[in-house]
Amino acid sequence: MTDVSRLPGAFHHRWDWQLSAACRGADSSLFFHPPDERGDARTEREEKAKRVCFRCPVRQACLRHSLEAREQFGVWGGLGEEERRALIAAARRERSAACRPAA
Ligand code: SF4
Repeated sequence: MTDVSRLPGAFHHRWDWQLSAACRGADSSLFFHPPDERGDARTEREEKAKRVCFRCPVRQACLRHSLEAREQFGVWGGLGEEERRALIAAARRERSAACRPAA
């Protein structure tokens, strides 16, 4: 018989925020762009997605997840791909500056 005592426990607490998501059941194409989408079409779709996010009760948990998981695509936590990349880069610069010896 398998000894399950060494297996990791349940992780539902890490994901159950998704049960309260405002986008639950929504069309995912609102949050993820098709490969050929550019310009105004992309901006308008993202703005619609962000409007859903801004009324979402789990926006902070969603954004935290997307940053920790380095989600590359889509709108998460009310931020688009470029905005999340900028946040990650800023955090990296901050950490780097904090590690530099004082002059
Ligand atoms: S913040 Fe936006 S993408 Fe995240 S769960 Fe809420 S509605 Fe969905």
